[in-house]
Amino acid sequence: MKVTPIIGLEVHVELRTQSKMFCSCSATHFHVEANTNTCPVCLGLPGALPVPNSTACEWCIKLGIALGCTPNLTSFFERKNYFYPDLAKGYQLTQFEKPFVVNGKLVIDGQEIRINRAHMEEDTGKSIHLTTSGQDLTLIDYNRCGVPLVEIVSEPDITSAQMAKNYLLKIQQIIRYLGISDADIEKGSMRCEPTINLKIETDDGQTVYTPLAEIKNVASLTGVQIAIDFELNRQLEEFKQTGETKSKTNKTTRGWDADKNQTFLQREKEGSSDYRYFPEPDIPYINFTQAEIDAIKASIPELPDQKVARYKSELNLNDYDAQTIAADINFAKHYELIINAYTDQTKIKDFAKFTANLILGALKTYLNETQKDIVLIPCNPVFYINLFNAVSGSEISATVAKQVITESYQTDVDPVEIAKSKGLIQVSDSGEIEKIATEVITNNPKAVEDYKKNPMSIGFLIGQLMKASRGSANPVIAKNILEKLLK
Ligand SMILES: [Zn+2]
Repeated sequence: MKVTPIIGLEVHVELRTQSKMFCSCSATHFHVEANTNTCPVCLGLPGALPVPNSTACEWCIKLGIALGCTPNLTSFFERKNYFYPDLAKGYQLTQFEKPFVVNGKLVIDGQEIRINRAHMEEDTGKSIHLTTSGQDLTLIDYNRCGVPLVEIVSEPDITSAQMAKNYLLKIQQIIRYLGISDADIEKGSMRCEPTINLKIETDDGQTVYTPLAEIKNVASLTGVQIAIDFELNRQLEEFKQTGETKSKTNKTTRGWDADKNQTFLQREKEGSSDYRYFPEPDIPYINFTQAEIDAIKASIPELPDQKVARYKSELNLNDYDAQTIAADINFAKHYELIINAYTDQTKIKDFAKFTANLILGALKTYLNETQKDIVLIPCNPVFYINLFNAVSGSEISATVAKQVITESYQTDVDPVEIAKSKGLIQVSDSGEIEKIATEVITNNPKAVEDYKKNPMSIGFLIGQLMKASRGSANPVIAKNILEKLLK
């Protein structure tokens, strides 16, 4: 029996526009008093007329183009009819027949994931369930109702939970590069619903599919991965026990219980015909000219994959360093600010590697330990340049470089000055080192005997020399001098 997972993802992203999708209410809904950002439009009162937010429409197209999609020059909004307490109108304004952008793709782990579409819609309000004096209550906050939401729908080309996670990470990176949303899964500004089933090729040559399940309410990136793996296993076990395969009617919606780490049946899923989509009569068709689309395209910055390619070709970074720096737009900006300040083109690759090591090592460690955000750390390119020159000239060792640059993040003092003030400048003066080396040889006759039998044991004497110089001797020079004296 051969089993292949078939996974598609619907990703919802809240846009960081000032106002909501169809009214002028503020789109901010975190830490805002309930039901203060509302008006007749987003509450769906009779006679209220929606007016589309042009920035949101442009951002949706911008995101679509960044995902390799083709824009539709003409598109329109439709009503998706369903009743839900936190959707006051009884329908959601969305796009169905003509979304803003279609037919994109992302390459994840070397495999192409097709993107069916990205369309514009509005978010719902939030239900808050609580118990007061033994009574179960549901309160509704409509502040989020009408906030611009982009839905990105992939084709079912994803074949593992890990690939699904990497796909989400890539979308998150691109959104953050575009600056159109914080795309924070834990906060709910990016949400993901995987649709999952299995293709099973049985030993007797038959190919069957297990029933489709859509998983709701997964609220973390790791959760998505665990939920998909759970559901893949559950479907395989169910198939082994019942032999049930996919039919037209048996698509289900399953919830995710993050405490028990398992999915549970919520309801049989509606088909799109149940929603009775029809064009919104109060909003005219939305037309873009090719010139407008070209202008949106031109406003897209260098994207993560392009950055990685450039870091590798221009700066000679290895794949891991390039990927890690480019993964976070703020990290990449910090790095480039330093690199762009360095003018000696003959040594730029060495400087790029040196700086990458420090910001992926010392800076990342410092940020983790202090729980600071990189945007709050002052960026001093000249510190890195001075330090690079000192290390290249053998005045400062790589270990000391890491130590003093970390201290410079706290004090904003040039790391080379810190090294000088602490006596951490490396001694490369042969005469000085030879003096110490002679003492070390005199004081360690046993180690000298060992060395004569086994030259590999010189490490001990180098260690003693470094100790005697309080770490300031250049180890390469120290080794050469010891070898010379021992001969
Ligand atoms: Zn409103």
